[in-house]
Amino acid sequence: MARHSVTLIPGDGIGVETSAAMQQVVAASGAQIDWEVAEAGAACMDIHGTPLPDSTIEAVKRNKVAIKGPITTPVGTGFRSVNVALRKTLDLYVCLRPVISLPGAGGRYDDVDLVIVRENSEDLYAGIEFEEGSEGARRLIEFVDESGAGSIRPDSGISIKPISVTGTRRIVEYAFEYALKHGREKVTAVHKANIMKHSDGLFLRVAREVAEEYAGRVAFEAKIVDAFCMSLVMDPSQFDVVVFPNLYGDIASDLAAGLVGGLGIAPGANIGKDYAVFEAVHGSAPDIAGKDIANPTAEILSAAMMLDHLGELEAAARIRAAVARVYAEGRCLTGDIRRATGLGGEPARCSEFTAELVRVLEEM
Ligand code: ATP
Ligand code: MG
Repeated sequence: MARHSVTLIPGDGIGVETSAAMQQVVAASGAQIDWEVAEAGAACMDIHGTPLPDSTIEAVKRNKVAIKGPITTPVGTGFRSVNVALRKTLDLYVCLRPVISLPGAGGRYDDVDLVIVRENSEDLYAGIEFEEGSEGARRLIEFVDESGAGSIRPDSGISIKPISVTGTRRIVEYAFEYALKHGREKVTAVHKANIMKHSDGLFLRVAREVAEEYAGRVAFEAKIVDAFCMSLVMDPSQFDVVVFPNLYGDIASDLAAGLVGGLGIAPGANIGKDYAVFEAVHGSAPDIAGKDIANPTAEILSAAMMLDHLGELEAAARIRAAVARVYAEGRCLTGDIRRATGLGGEPARCSEFTAELVRVLEEM
């Protein structure tokens, strides 16, 4: 088995606990990983004076593959979001989030098996904003007035929503290539083109153009975002690969995670042409940090995605099988899952759940 060097950014809050758990489980899977630990986030700010040191970016570039815990962006650091800065710097334009039913996790459905492909670099999350009353806002309001496109109240704050042909084409192509590679049959593009003709309308038009290139190989459908939400909660089994602009993809990720047992089990990855950074969907959950009660499953399943990416398919499959077994047995599960299943009983600590997973892996 090959050895792999991977950058580990443990992160903040519950990330400290979930990252340690993930490392133990990966070690027990048989994969040979050399971890290169790099810092980012709140604790890092105190030591290095920045929440995202160049050395951390360099470490990801060197290894090309990283896994990170959730990062809190301290206020007043000049960073709007460390997560966004990392995605931008490394051009991680794909946010990939598989949503799969995990029996025993307390989800509402047993037959969910879809993949969210969320655009990661533009849309309302581009971070281009003008504060209410600022010179920029004033000039923009004046320009809109003169253009005849409409009018904006003078006391408005303004966020810009850019969606480009380039950005859309590469994310939709990724969704179709993913479908082909993983034997999936359909790509659904989600939009609100009927209202936002020049941003979502462009997204839809380009998605259709790309779909043409895959006609006969992968099916395509388009859904308006509100109708999509209703369809998703009524029958999630109808979706396969779903591609979104940034904002809708963010919201749909949490919604879909909620259908199968919550944020505690939702893995993800940020992927670009050259680099991949794996991370759970959830944030740093400061309310439960440091108490050994967080659910590390999301980060552990993110590590399984990482092992797939590294070609360690067997180790990845072993981790997923061990997770499935521990959830199916239901004896040793964290508090979030106990609540979701409504089973009550004594919740397992993060460390106890992890030890159980390691035990199962060693037995397999
Ligand atoms: P951030 O600002 O970093 O996003 P947050 O407070 O929004 O942090 P999230 O991680 O997004 O926290 O999650 C919201 C809530 O869901 C948390 O406060 C926590 O109670 C719960 N939660 C999230 N992840 C987990 C987990 N892995 N295990 C258990 N509970 C979790
Ligand atoms: Mg959050």
